[in-house]
Amino acid sequence: MASVELNKINKTFGGVEVIPGVDLRIEDGEFVVFVGPSGCGKSTLLRLIAGLEDPTSGDILIDNDLVTDLSPKERGVGMVFQSYALYPHMSVYENIAFGLKLGKANKHKVREWVEKTAEVLQLDKLMNRKPRELSGGQRQRVAIGRAMAREPKIMLFDEPLSNLDASLRVQMRTEIAKLHDRLKSTMIYVTHDQVEAMTLADKIVVLNRGKVEQVGTPYELYETPASLFVAGFIGSPK
Ligand code: ADP
Ligand code: MG
Repeated sequence: MASVELNKINKTFGGVEVIPGVDLRIEDGEFVVFVGPSGCGKSTLLRLIAGLEDPTSGDILIDNDLVTDLSPKERGVGMVFQSYALYPHMSVYENIAFGLKLGKANKHKVREWVEKTAEVLQLDKLMNRKPRELSGGQRQRVAIGRAMAREPKIMLFDEPLSNLDASLRVQMRTEIAKLHDRLKSTMIYVTHDQVEAMTLADKIVVLNRGKVEQVGTPYELYETPASLFVAGFIGSPK
């Protein structure tokens, strides 16, 4: 578990300011959801936290330590993307085990760890299957397992369910909520699905053109939206 802090984070791409200076603190173990229209900078913010992008200026702290100059590996962050990016020639077991730091654990330890993870994600009966033999939801669970394999202090999700059909999305949403209850790790989750945001979040961050419009619990945002923009996004009657 770890807190995340963004201090005056600014990001420009080719002279265009995409993130104009964001301050944000996420507490240990919180489930935080980023929402906002397409192109508002949600993925960029996640990638900055993961270390896949460098900020133009500003600092990022994880667990109160400065990580701005650390590589993704050194940050203790696991990321799950919209497209699953599994290795097609590897089994479920191998895909999950691949995330484990090589050399860190012996074979026996690896097996123990992968089996435990597969059980949490209900993949234990599918260990020998290849990705093409899995449903969309099962594949996404393997991707989550692989992100978990590094035992990240923080898990980042970028619209992980948007490629799934509606019923599977509801099922996976419940599974992700259970995963958070069990692991108690800090999770930052991007979605444009209002229901997903309202049901999963401890705290919702509403973004508009790279700026934080409002931060609050789902209840706070619904009851007292700070602007028409927030009200429109959350669906409250202001
Ligand atoms: P969201 O995830 O909210 O849809 P993004 O973070 O992907 O938004 O993008 C925010 C803005 O930054 C968009 O205008 C996008 O075109 C731009 N952008 C993102 N990544 C790059 C990049 N690597 N190079 C240039 N522009 C980018
Ligand atoms: Mg995005």
